[in-house]
Order: sequence, then C-alpha cells, then structure tokens
Amino acid sequence: MSAWVLITGGSRGIGAATALRCAEAGWDVAINYAQDSGAAQALAARLHGLGRRALPIQADVADPAQVGAMFEKLDAAGGRLAGLVNSAGIVAPAARLEAMTPERWRRLFDVNVMGTLLCCQQAARRMSTARGGAGGAIVNLSSRAAEFGSAGIYVDYAATKGAVDTLTKGLGRELIGEGIRVNGVRPGIIETDIHATSGMLERAQAQVKDIPMQRMGRAEEIAEAIVWLLSDASSYTVGTLLDVAGGR
Ligand code: NAP
Repeated sequence: MSAWVLITGGSRGIGAATALRCAEAGWDVAINYAQDSGAAQALAARLHGLGRRALPIQADVADPAQVGAMFEKLDAAGGRLAGLVNSAGIVAPAARLEAMTPERWRRLFDVNVMGTLLCCQQAARRMSTARGGAGGAIVNLSSRAAEFGSAGIYVDYAATKGAVDTLTKGLGRELIGEGIRVNGVRPGIIETDIHATSGMLERAQAQVKDIPMQRMGRAEEIAEAIVWLLSDASSYTVGTLLDVAGGR
C-alpha cells in the first residue's frame, strides 16, 4: 500500500496543484480544507481517477482540537503518513501598520504559524523513528515576502512567513535524527485566488514588472519543487528554504 501525504489547504491553489502532482508521483493524498468542500470533493474525484486514495478532511488548522481530529481521521483510514505539506495560509488586505488591528494579526499568526506548528507536531509524532514511525518529509510554504518584509503592503503577513522560515530551519535540525526531513518553499507571486480573495489582484499584477521573468508563477511550478522536497530525490536536503520566484 502506498503512503499518505497530508496537504493542508490542499483543495485550491498551490495545495491543489501539489495534490495532483503527488497523486501522479504515487502518493495517496489527504486534502485538508477550511470551507470549500465542493473544491475538495472535486479534487478528490480527480485523484481517484488517477488510481490513488484521496481523503478530503475539513479542519481549521488554527484550532488544535480540529487539527488533532484531522490526524485521527487519517489514522483511521489506515496506511502510513509519510508526507506533510503545510500550504494552508492567508493574507490580509494591503495596509500600513498603523491601520492594522490586533484581531487581524492574531488570525494571520494563528493560521500561518500556529497551523504550521500544530500540523508539524502531529506529523512528527507519527513519523518519528524514535516513536516507532518510519520517517517522512515535511514541506512548509513560506514566501519571498519573509525576506523582503512587504513594507506598506502587509508586514504582518511577511512576519508570519519569517516565523515559518525559522521554524523550518530549526525543525530540520531537530527532526533529522528521527528520519524526518523538514524543508520550506518560498514562492514569489503565483497565480492563485489568494490575491483576489484578499482584494489585492491589481497590486499583484502591478508587481509583475519587478519580477525578472516578467510574469507570475503558476501553482504547478511550485508543486514541482514541493514534490521534489517530499521525494527521496532530495535525500540530502534538510532545513533548506527553496526560492521559486522567477528570479525575484
Ligand atoms: P489559496 O489559493 O488562497 O488557497 C488557500 C487554501 O488554504 C485553500 O485550500 C483554503 O481552503 C485553505 N485554507 C485557508 N485557511 C485555512 C485554514 N484556517 N485551515 C485550513 N485550510 C485553510 O492560497 P495559495 O495562493 O495556494 O497559497 C498557498 C500557500 O502559499 C499559503 O501559505 C501562502 O501564504 C503561500 N504563498 C502564496 C503565494 C501566492 O502568490 N499565491 C506567494 C507566496 C506564498 P478553503 O478554500 O476551504 O478556504
């Protein structure tokens, strides 16, 4: 029986493209989503069509109880969890610091940072060779914003991704002795719904002139990097942040 990869935010955007590539590469795929069950079910049907198991699981990654229940559902499905992709993430509309609210910061950090921490913890408990597991690979979605800081746009979002970068480097070193490779991918500006849902589609389009390749990336181009980091082809890559950003 093949192994499971759990992809948080797997129903749309980069997560969905990753789910498809993972299925093509032989993974069974657990598709986490927050609200849009239609998108998750439609994607699951496509993965079934590729001959893979596919399990949509609704859970808010910011909620410890819901994350715990999500992993228990996956346990109940049977089979080994060998991969985790933390792709669930949110942005907020462009604003300067003085116009932001504590509620906005709390939600951004809860989803982007707490969500990643909670899912890494649950996965590590199952994968760790020190706990009887068989090892695995974790890929965290960060952003090039972690380096640029996104001044005047969303310094808070950039700060959440800076935290994801630091977590990825530290966990990479902490868990490698237990057979778990942790790495991160830092996309540039990628064509997904995230820009429109945060009211920033025009801003994203205006930034294209600053990208050396002069175009946005496609979700599939990020998925390729993620699937490589999940696979044994990247067996000597640990605690690394891979920029996939058209030269930006
Ligand atoms: P997207 O198209 O907006 O998709 C977001 C996905 O995350 C959806 O499946 C959504 O589920 C899920 N989600 C949102 N909040 C969640 C929560 N609290 N719990 C569980 N699932 C949740 O996003 P994307 O553009 O693919 O981005 C994926 C990741 O890449 C994010 O971490 C983002 O920060 C990062 N990234 C994106 C870009 C870019 O330009 N697109 C650039 C750099 C980094 P529902 O549909 O059910 O809400």
